[in-house]
Amino acid sequence: VLPKPIETLAEKFRLFQGVGLRSSQKLSLEVLQLNPEEYTSLLSSLQETRNKVKFCQNCGFFAEENLGQKIECEICKDKTRNSFQICLVENPTDIITMERGEIYRGLYCVLENLISPLDNIFAEDTTLDNLFTTRLPALINSSQFKFLEENGSLLKNKIGQNQSTKIELILFFKAGFAAEATTAYLKELVISRGWSDKILITRLAQGLPLYYNPDTLDQATVVKAIEDRRLVY
Ligand SMILES: [Zn+2]
Repeated sequence: VLPKPIETLAEKFRLFQGVGLRSSQKLSLEVLQLNPEEYTSLLSSLQETRNKVKFCQNCGFFAEENLGQKIECEICKDKTRNSFQICLVENPTDIITMERGEIYRGLYCVLENLISPLDNIFAEDTTLDNLFTTRLPALINSSQFKFLEENGSLLKNKIGQNQSTKIELILFFKAGFAAEATTAYLKELVISRGWSDKILITRLAQGLPLYYNPDTLDQATVVKAIEDRRLVY
């Protein structure tokens, strides 16, 4: 019953997760209600999002591109964050979930994939190589880390004692076989590089639903899982 352009637009909206038939029609009709300025700014906002949002060269989270500058996200830019805590996640959207907890003040590393040999996904399909050959060595060789190693530190990892000078890798993976395989591989990497005394690996506490979807976790669950994280290695 609706004119064809509206139906076509509604079909486009249905490409988005969670938008069904009714809400797609409703959104299309709302586009008609916009005044000219609102309509123009919606269009340019769509284009700008598409053109200027890239991935952070440091951690893989969404970041705005500014020509001639290194692409860096707002989290990596924030120098008040603890660079000795790195939370490893599979997807950039998992970072949004972690941030929802509002207590984590470290940095991130988006792996893009979890290792899953059965699905033909191996270490080279993740960003682990970059983490272990670039980011972690830079951190370990930084004067700040050397100072902390020699003088003890103010870092609060809240796990055990006498571990405050270590770099903490916090795993936030959807529970399952791939998470286990990735964790095992990480342990091997730390050992083979001789970094056992410098790096500790933790994962968010159990108590999360076994096959939780990071997108659907509420704030309280995230906070509890971060606070109660467990030592893996
Ligand atoms: Zn970043």
